Amino acid sequence: MMTGELRQLIYKWALKNAYDHGGLAQEKAVISKVIAERPELKTAIKDLLGAVRDVVGQVNAMSLDAITQTLSELAPELMVERRMETRRKLPPLPNAVEGNVVTRLPPEPSGYMHIGHALSGLVNYLYKEMYGGKVWLRFEDTDPRKVRAEYYDSYRDGYRWAGIRWDYEKNNSDDMELFYQNAKRLIEEGKAYACNCSREVVRRLRSEGLPCVHRSQTVDVNLELWDGMLEGRYSEGEISLRLVGDMSSANTTLRDPVIMRVVEAPHPLKGERYRVWPTYDYAVSIEDAICGVTHVLRTSEFMLRDELQNLIRGYLHMPNPTFVEYERFEFEGTPVSRREIRSLIERGLVSGWDDPRLATIVSIRRRGIVPKALKEFAERYVALTQSRKVYSWDLLYAINRKCVDDLTPRMFFVKDPVKLKLEGLGEFDVELPLHPTGRLGQRRLRVSEELYVQQDDLRSIGEGGKVRLKHLCNVTLRSISDKLAEGAAELGPPEPGLRVIQWVPVNEAVDVRVLIPGPLLKPDGTFNELSLQVEGGVAERSVDSLEVGAHVQFERFGYCVKDKLPMTFVYSHR
Ligand SMILES: [Zn+2]
Repeated sequence: MMTGELRQLIYKWALKNAYDHGGLAQEKAVISKVIAERPELKTAIKDLLGAVRDVVGQVNAMSLDAITQTLSELAPELMVERRMETRRKLPPLPNAVEGNVVTRLPPEPSGYMHIGHALSGLVNYLYKEMYGGKVWLRFEDTDPRKVRAEYYDSYRDGYRWAGIRWDYEKNNSDDMELFYQNAKRLIEEGKAYACNCSREVVRRLRSEGLPCVHRSQTVDVNLELWDGMLEGRYSEGEISLRLVGDMSSANTTLRDPVIMRVVEAPHPLKGERYRVWPTYDYAVSIEDAICGVTHVLRTSEFMLRDELQNLIRGYLHMPNPTFVEYERFEFEGTPVSRREIRSLIERGLVSGWDDPRLATIVSIRRRGIVPKALKEFAERYVALTQSRKVYSWDLLYAINRKCVDDLTPRMFFVKDPVKLKLEGLGEFDVELPLHPTGRLGQRRLRVSEELYVQQDDLRSIGEGGKVRLKHLCNVTLRSISDKLAEGAAELGPPEPGLRVIQWVPVNEAVDVRVLIPGPLLKPDGTFNELSLQVEGGVAERSVDSLEVGAHVQFERFGYCVKDKLPMTFVYSHR
């Protein structure tokens, strides 16, 4: 006959084996573990076989959740983290010379930074780390109407948070004199001309592939008009400087694009010092060259512009970088374009730029994504291809879970609570581990005869059924109603096969709510009304000790982050 102690031993190894194999334990594996621990049992192998078969049968009937819960209580030391498989780095970079790779982070400070910017920034940063080199943080801020002072810091903070360290920093708006000098040089060499056609005419002629009358002006006329632009003789929209490109090119960006224009709006950093501003392509072409950028890694929406930017540099005898273009980073159900996000905010459908359903950096931080997870995602999973790819949040969540698990305390949260009265249990303190491994220390709860448990747990167990209150006792349920359930407690180790549930002492309970963000957009692209669920319930008082932004795992519920809103948590993932 098997003793109770031996049964516990078998139970432990059956749980461990099931935990490692998706919920199904193998008798043979369990037997060899038991014998390794108690070699004398070889002589009673027949009895052992029977007992193992019995216990394995019980364990295999349990849900994976119950197996995990029970094992974490009975033998947390066996729950070693399952380590990642072999690590995959980013694919090699074309034309990269060891020690001489220069990349750049090129934000336009015109809106909040989002996960796509962070991943793109990480790709640039990781390549410069991989080959040794330098990375620039360069603000592309030459459109005074779009740029806002507060967004510079949003990017600095966001990149820093993502673990990106840049070697140099500058603003394109610091180089206005340089843009002017090169513009003059282009005019003198017959590569640019001043055009005072109306915007409509320019647009029409470009689409028809036809030059305007100004293209054949003399250099002297162009220089005079250019001086007039700089001196403020023209107002916005009246005149622009255009590049001599190729009016018949199939790539329409080459059809004599505007490179400098008058903008009568103050710049957040430069004030009203300048009124002639470079366009994006012109500024970037020059900046990439003078910063010594060897590799331009960016999303493929810019692809048509490579040829134009190379043409500008060619005219100015500047070197061209190697371009690596990839599709922008999209996540399912989540808008990334600023226009879309702004519209959702204006329509009152999300609460602001940090709404936990969005993919801005402030949002994903609120939702508990950690930098380490983003970095691993960038290294292992981003596809640097030009075909559209929509990433799954679940993948990022799975990586994030591994990153936060070791440091995240466990606590009890009970949704839809119902009182369970356990007569004769008395009042006493229990110490519960903050982490299954015991590494994070203990928390103390004062237990009394009334505890909150989850309504649906009691219902599915039913009157007369038995349940395990984690780390506390086994309970036989006597009666269950909407308001109150009653049961008999039996202190001691978990009984094999019981469902393990969390609980909160009534006199230690605090009311909390959990915001559960879901996909903002339905698969057809329309707003998902059910994108934010709110779960109300009670948590153990230990949650008071958590700081805003701290992670916690509510057992059997999921990983959450303590939010800035009072008594509120934001759900991260399972
Ligand atoms: Zn013209």
